[in-house]
Amino acid sequence: MSLFAGLEHIVREDEPLAPYTNLKLGGKAQYFAEPTTEGEIAELVRRATAAGLATRLIGGGTNLLVRDSGVSGLVIHLSAPAFSTLTIEGNRMIVGGGVRLSHFVSSCAREGFDGPEHLVGIPGTIGGALHVNSGSDGVDIGSWCVAAKALTRTGELVQRGADALSFSYRSSSLNELAILEATFEFERENSESLTREMQRNWIVRRARQPSFGEPAAYLFKDHLGEPAGELISRAGAKGLRAGAVQLFDANPNYLVAKEGAKVEDVLSLIEAVKTHVNDKIGVELALAMQIW
Ligand SMILES: Cc1cc2nc3c(=O)[nH]c(=O)nc-3n(C[C@H](O)[C@H](O)[C@H](O)COP(=O)(O)OP(=O)(O)OC[C@H]3O[C@@H](n4cnc5c(N)ncnc54)[C@H](O)[C@@H]3O)c2cc1C
Repeated sequence: MSLFAGLEHIVREDEPLAPYTNLKLGGKAQYFAEPTTEGEIAELVRRATAAGLATRLIGGGTNLLVRDSGVSGLVIHLSAPAFSTLTIEGNRMIVGGGVRLSHFVSSCAREGFDGPEHLVGIPGTIGGALHVNSGSDGVDIGSWCVAAKALTRTGELVQRGADALSFSYRSSSLNELAILEATFEFERENSESLTREMQRNWIVRRARQPSFGEPAAYLFKDHLGEPAGELISRAGAKGLRAGAVQLFDANPNYLVAKEGAKVEDVLSLIEAVKTHVNDKIGVELALAMQIW
């Protein structure tokens, strides 16, 4: 592995990616790295770029389908403690890109930081969530983000201030290769009432999404303010399935992969739902999940 000489302790070849994704499907990464410092991730990216290798980031893998052919180039996983810190400074929280969204949400409620209690139940990491501006019920993570530290595709560390950040529905200006850290700023509220609100939201949400750990995916973006799940129901596509993959009953904007599910089943079901909704109600659904 002369390309990554001196970094062998953090780089593996031909690493299966399925265990790192929620759907537990798909092939291998040519190179897979778990850097432990900002210096290491920068060095990995510089070497991959110099060698003409594509580099990708994987967070919680909750918004990803990896094809059976796998991924050529380098996949970086921010699993090390250096990317999982969470610090409070006054009304601000500084959070590593690898921090679980669930940890962020519960820490905000405990601290009396108003807003993130609406995001309870969304799986994934801070980096993945900021990359696509994840959210729920009209509340998006980008709305509290005032600064970010990122790594460019050439391996340069950059700081982005509020003036360089813009977020809209499932879209973010933070399109650097890796979001390493983000600073959020909040209004304060009573911590006990935020915790109660978070628990209420969690009960409602639990009933309308697949349970944590179940191989599942969140499929499409809402269309002109109408939830994708309602569009799919309105088009009569609710019962569609492909092989061992089926739409989730309580909200058909999720699919659930049963035992024996294949990547091809997921791709076929996505295509079938898109075609059905377009044919029946003339809406072109846009995919929310990423396919590698
Ligand atoms: C049951 C279920 C419910 C869901 N509910 C919602 C919901 O209500 N609302 C919603 O918006 N989404 C929802 N999702 C989708 C998903 O959980 C979120 O989009 C989540 O924020 C993705 O984070 P992740 O860390 O898992 O990203 P990944 O799946 O690992 O990656 C997604 C994308 O982000 C990029 N990325 C990941 N980490 C970084 C980083 N540090 N820097 C730069 N880019 C990065 C990846 O390269 C990839 O392009 C749901 C998914 C499931 C399975």
